[in-house]
Amino acid sequence: MDIFEKCYHFTEAKEAIEKGIYPYFLALSENEGSESVFRGKRVIMCGSNNYLGLTTHPKVKEAACQALKRFGTSCTGSRFLNGTLELHEQLEHELAEWVRKPAALIFSTGMQTNLGTISALVGRGDYVVLDKQDHASIVDGARLSFGKTVRFNHNDLQHFEKVLASIPADAGKLVVVDGLYSMEGDLAPLPDMIPIMQKYQARIMVDDAHGMGVFGGGRGVAEHFGVTDHIDLIMSTFSKSFASLGGFIAGDADVVHYIKHFARALIFSASIPPANTAAALAALQVMREEPERIERVNRNAEKMRKGFRELGFNIGRSVSPIIPIIIGDDQLTFITWKLLLENGVFVNPVISPAVPIGMQLLRTSYMATHTDEQLDKVLEVFEKVGKQVGLIN
Ligand code: PMP
Repeated sequence: MDIFEKCYHFTEAKEAIEKGIYPYFLALSENEGSESVFRGKRVIMCGSNNYLGLTTHPKVKEAACQALKRFGTSCTGSRFLNGTLELHEQLEHELAEWVRKPAALIFSTGMQTNLGTISALVGRGDYVVLDKQDHASIVDGARLSFGKTVRFNHNDLQHFEKVLASIPADAGKLVVVDGLYSMEGDLAPLPDMIPIMQKYQARIMVDDAHGMGVFGGGRGVAEHFGVTDHIDLIMSTFSKSFASLGGFIAGDADVVHYIKHFARALIFSASIPPANTAAALAALQVMREEPERIERVNRNAEKMRKGFRELGFNIGRSVSPIIPIIIGDDQLTFITWKLLLENGVFVNPVISPAVPIGMQLLRTSYMATHTDEQLDKVLEVFEKVGKQVGLIN
């Protein structure tokens, strides 16, 4: 049996490329933030996680340039050995303060943060308890651990309690949920989850990759609900509102210290390059100095949720700048995506397994830097295409 056999028989993506309906790995020639250029044509970007529009902010770009000039292009090593700069530690201190936790630890990506943290904490005999809509990096962190994984139905508190009750009382339990779910744009019901967790002596980690920078004045979903003290670990990434690359985990100093010494994704991987570290630091500074950006992203999101609902689209349970247009069929999702792109609107088609069958959707997302004019244009295009494909009347 040739291990490569499956590669030669994997034809689905090639068929979609031939039909001109392959929507992934699209290369942009320009990307200014709210607008990009794709195959020579300007498109309004409604598929990015650049929620605050900071990737082109002068202070963020300047900080990255200065760090590049001062420290060079790479740290060429792990945080554990030669790859720690004072800049990394400064970012950790400022992030811990931002999310109101005693300590923080940065990793080279959000994915690595989840892989490293969960697999470091969950050992043999322990349980990790996941929402069925949790991000793939959380699922993979659980798979890498030596513990057992159990899952509850998305945001279903009764099922959550049932699952916790089924775990041996003396086993260690780590609940991991997204703060803001990346596909459907809804929040984890943290205030209602906390008493249940406490009843079963579980710890909780919240992946706030999408909520940080947007909710709770930028400090995230735990702050938004006023429950930070009850959330044991807060995780986020720099690849969204922080306009960079990297991730972090924040919590009690002893727990973070332990993760620092047992997370293989940290120890055996090179640290965040200087320019990316400085960009994340500068983005944090801008979040403090320009709260109007946080207000603006939320205002834009509200405008779009209202606009889509009025047009008759199904946007599910979104309460955030992530607004899904639920279609429920692969083919129709791809056709609608293609027509939108041809009409100058870039969105992301999402099918199973990223969402359950029946929930196939177009993931749209909005930024503080989208203008009203751009957003009106997006709604206009959606109305035209939606009618064309029969999604709305
Ligand atoms: N968690 C969530 C909820 C995410 O959406 C993502 C990225 N899409 C990650 C973690 C991983 O972050 P990164 O891009 O920094 O690897």
